[in-house]
Amino acid sequence: MEIKVTVKLNSLVSLQATGEGKTLIEAIRQVNPLLAFRGKCELCGSDDITLQGKVAKSFPFTEFVCRGCHAKAQFGSYKEGGYFLKKWEVYQQNPPKEIDVNKDGVNF
Ligand SMILES: [Zn+2]
Repeated sequence: MEIKVTVKLNSLVSLQATGEGKTLIEAIRQVNPLLAFRGKCELCGSDDITLQGKVAKSFPFTEFVCRGCHAKAQFGSYKEGGYFLKKWEVYQQNPPKEIDVNKDGVNF
């Protein structure tokens, strides 16, 4: 069985994915995160979303990025098939640096 899902990201871009499985339930499970996507940023409600490809530690992944508030939601696929979409995260221009007191040493 297979299910095709089209997710509209903005006025120019749509994402198409196919879930495949022995049963319809299996096929649906593969595209579940896309079925749950509401077509807008869950933080500000903007329907102007784009995709951004990245590589971290030689692992390629993609992020949904809101053009309204710059929030991001990581999107990727599992090795065994199927997709995941993480929760939307608030955009932080300069995330606070964590200081390892033991390693860096702090002098007052
Ligand atoms: Zn937003």
